[in-house]
Amino acid sequence: LLTVEGVWKNFGDHSVLRGIDLEVRPHEVVSLIGASGSGKSTLLRCVNLLETVDDGTIHLDGEEITDPRVKVDDVRKRLGIVFQAFNLFPHMTVLDNITLAPRQVHGAGRAQAEEQAFGLLARFGLGDKARAYPDQLSGGQQQRVAIVRAMATQPRLLLLDEVTSALDPELVVEVLGVIRELKGSGMTMILTTHEMSFCRDISDTVCFLDGGVLLEKGPPEKIFTEPEHTRTQEFLRSVL
Ligand code: ATP
Ligand code: MG
Repeated sequence: LLTVEGVWKNFGDHSVLRGIDLEVRPHEVVSLIGASGSGKSTLLRCVNLLETVDDGTIHLDGEEITDPRVKVDDVRKRLGIVFQAFNLFPHMTVLDNITLAPRQVHGAGRAQAEEQAFGLLARFGLGDKARAYPDQLSGGQQQRVAIVRAMATQPRLLLLDEVTSALDPELVVEVLGVIRELKGSGMTMILTTHEMSFCRDISDTVCFLDGGVLLEKGPPEKIFTEPEHTRTQEFLRSVL
């Protein structure tokens, strides 16, 4: 579904991504772990074309999206992305937040977009929040709405960048529950997380980034119990 090949990203003379290769299969959940500054968010931003790559290619469903002739909006239509800070529009209700992109970017009618939004809200335990404004919701509820909003355009691939790290521990659980439910429904995802137990539980593949290098990847049982590289062992020892 997604193929990242030899991707480099430089900021000035600092290479933040150094030849990243990554393959994501349909329905696969891939986690990116690594120290702060290792390049996890930058890699997600490159996939979403929020950053241009300096070398290498990224293919989505066989199409090279790093080709400069590709229309960025057409690519973003096929991706959902959720960040650490919720980024909901504060002046819009939950319902309007969710239906905005389906209506304005994907050309859905109001009735159709709202019906779908109500369905998603119910599915994620937010059925009574459609008319609320973001500041009337808890952090965990806001983040669940942000995930619902990303799902409302039926993305091929969902990118989740530390969606729980701004939340109090008791709210983390409900957001993780949403991600688990999405995995159950077959959603393909790339996520970055500092929640190692969750990462271990939900990932099909775990990738360890170290200074912009994808040093090691494999199934969670392998990465968490017998990592090959000393750097991976050190990182895991520091966070577990
Ligand atoms: P964290 O766990 O803290 O979120 P990360 O692995 O997501 O870290 P990135 O945000 O991808 O790390 O950043 C990787 C490196 O790129 C960092 O050294 C950061 O300072 C640098 N960087 C990121 N964005 C920019 C930018 N727009 N301009 C310059 N440097 C940047
Ligand atoms: Mg980050």
